Amino acid sequence: MRQASGPPATSGGGGFRSGFVALAGRPNVGKSTLLNRLIGSKVSIVSPVSQTTRTVIRAVDRSADAEVVYLDTPGVHRPRFQMNREMVRAAREALREVDLVLLLIEGPEGLGPGDAYMIRLLEEIKPPAYLVVNKIDAMPRERLLPLLDGASRRHGWEEIFPCSALTGEGCEALSAAIRKRLPAGEALFPDEFLSDLPARLALAERIREQVLLRTREEIPHSTAVLVEEVHRNEKGEYRVGATLLVDRDSQKGILIGRGGEMLKSIGQAARREMASYLECPVHLSLWVKVKKNWRDDPGMLRLLGIATHD
Ligand code: GDP
Ligand code: MG
Repeated sequence: MRQASGPPATSGGGGFRSGFVALAGRPNVGKSTLLNRLIGSKVSIVSPVSQTTRTVIRAVDRSADAEVVYLDTPGVHRPRFQMNREMVRAAREALREVDLVLLLIEGPEGLGPGDAYMIRLLEEIKPPAYLVVNKIDAMPRERLLPLLDGASRRHGWEEIFPCSALTGEGCEALSAAIRKRLPAGEALFPDEFLSDLPARLALAERIREQVLLRTREEIPHSTAVLVEEVHRNEKGEYRVGATLLVDRDSQKGILIGRGGEMLKSIGQAARREMASYLECPVHLSLWVKVKKNWRDDPGMLRLLGIATHD
């Protein structure tokens, strides 16, 4: 990732733009739904279970005029007392490196105490930031203006966008503003990477979700899913090879389980989910590898948006 690069050229020049946009906001404010709306294809899982989506690169939106790389903001949706030092550091760094931050809040709830920590971080680091007031379909219209007015006084937002990720209202305006706000620059990823990325991320999410359903606390936070192989044979069947990366041997043991039961159960359920997502048979090979400190390996993290951090 590169450093945030000053104010953007606002001169409407027709050049290509590219950059990194961090999505932040409490669980359930609608980050995943909004992302799906913004990029128009289902890359991340919209799940009633909060914090299932923890990839670093969430999506890349390449259009005729811009490439927007959407990132998760690690940890910022957690109350401070639950955050370890590593998470705080990761959050700060993420905010420093991106070109734009989108802080999502829920219109019906308004700006609440749960958003305070994020706003403090924004005030400290001062990245360019848009406030996105989501779920306006679920609130009376007459409450909207006072809400926007109050929110505008809470932080120096560059802009505030009311929208509904569910109905799509306001999302096009937001998307256009995001693309225009990025610095002039070339596309950041090669085309082959982009064509594979949605599938890889989506498949990795299916595996990660099964890990989350079956393990607790430290395991989900220490596990990255790396989808290394996606191959379609002449019969139209997919062969997917993926590795669960963990920090320690003990975690590897838990993921494999007694007699391999845990890994088997993760693999079977993930395979079913993948088959229904891809609408064709899937052969899934799953491995577990210990890679100490994989979270501190930037190459690893960038490779395919496989990192967790939370
Ligand atoms: P995340 O945890 O921030 O990623 O939130 P999700 O995208 O998973 O959304 C959480 C819940 O809010 C889901 O049940 C969504 O259907 C719902 N939701 C998201 N956006 C909207 C919206 O604009 N309006 C309404 N009414 N519900 C929404
Ligand atoms: Mg989500």
